[in-house]
Amino acid sequence: MNPNTFQYSESFAREMDAKDSLAHFRSRFHFPKVNGQEAIYFCGNSLGLQPKTVKDHLEKELSNWADLAVDGHFHGEDAWYHVRKKSKPALAEILGAHEHEVVAMNNLSVNLHLLMVSFYRPTKQRYKIIVEAGAFPSDQYMLETQIKFHGLDPADTLVEISPRPGEHTLRTEDILAEIHKQGDSLAMVNMAGIQYYTGQLFDMQAITQAAHEVGAVAGFDLAHAAGNALLKLHDWDVDFATWCSYKYLNSGPGNVSGIFAHERYAERPDLPRFAGWWGHDEGERFRMEKGFVPMYGADGWQLANSNVLALAAHQASLDIFQEAGMENLRAKSEKLTAFLEFLIEQISGKSGVLEIITPKNPAERGCQLSLLIHRGGKAVFDEFYKHGVVGDWRNPNVIRLAPTPLYNSFLDVFRFAKILEQSLEKFA
Ligand SMILES: *Cc1c(COP(=O)(O)O)cnc(C)c1O
Repeated sequence: MNPNTFQYSESFAREMDAKDSLAHFRSRFHFPKVNGQEAIYFCGNSLGLQPKTVKDHLEKELSNWADLAVDGHFHGEDAWYHVRKKSKPALAEILGAHEHEVVAMNNLSVNLHLLMVSFYRPTKQRYKIIVEAGAFPSDQYMLETQIKFHGLDPADTLVEISPRPGEHTLRTEDILAEIHKQGDSLAMVNMAGIQYYTGQLFDMQAITQAAHEVGAVAGFDLAHAAGNALLKLHDWDVDFATWCSYKYLNSGPGNVSGIFAHERYAERPDLPRFAGWWGHDEGERFRMEKGFVPMYGADGWQLANSNVLALAAHQASLDIFQEAGMENLRAKSEKLTAFLEFLIEQISGKSGVLEIITPKNPAERGCQLSLLIHRGGKAVFDEFYKHGVVGDWRNPNVIRLAPTPLYNSFLDVFRFAKILEQSLEKFA
């Protein structure tokens, strides 16, 4: 995006909105109010907004439950028994996967553990795990306890990669070099797709290829990437992945996660797993017999019967994603975030108060920008909120802003910039 194409003016922002073919999706979402005013909501990286259709989807399933009770499992086209199939086309598009490689289930942290059971098989020789330093706490606890579960010591099993001194994000060349350095002691790379703190989008294809070159597997936590970046998990040859649906996927607080397992694991009954009846061959499930036979593909990792109400809310959002199309969303997202970046640079420019730590290259980021604030800190952030900006604060001094292409406008970004300018004048 050429920054010369942008202007710091309301009329320019309105012009961009007028040209935006996705602008009408904004009216499909409920916006929260702050101090009686509709918020400038840049927090879709924590909790996406509620699609207005969620209520209808939930009410439909509540009626089915009321009217059909147990018969709802096998009644009609929307039979609960097969409910997992409904989300597959949209998930396949969002993740860049085949439908049989994805399934919605559980929550993200639970899924990470389940996937580790199958994909982390340490031996005396090959046992190390590479992760980015400063990973999301749940991922850190997961790795720590999985390693201990195998009787190993996290201190010499976990290899955490940090940015070079004076830098905020990782260089792909450094990640690849570490993978090759660990060589045949490396069992797995288990990183974020997009780092929650810095907003850096990692080169998952290159990382996976390097992991495979040394005989390791590569799995990704896509909490901040699903519904945000363009993903091609199948083509990138990624081994496994999981994500959550309540951030960019707008499916509601704590709603269902999903997993990806590459096609080459579709028929691998030999892989260790913690199984449950919902992963067992569907045709035979109700024979209630001994002997677990995993279903084909990602479905074989399911444990328990699907949460129908959760999936109803999820589906309301996935329908919107399908209608909008990931490629269109990403094209708008790059412009929206570049506009935000341009305005921040115009405003804080040479003052040195704000430093954007998210990579400048659009190929290395999603919609989020993370700002290091060197003066004023929390007071500036609190002033944002007073004026209706919902962003998020991370100690000690990072503000994360995520303008999302589905429901944010260029005018939102412009209005934020005005508030930023005033807040910095007051407190920084
Ligand atoms: C949001 C997030 C989680 C949250 O995990 P849940 O199991 O959904 O509570 C985990 N990891 C990362 C990287 C996240 O961003």
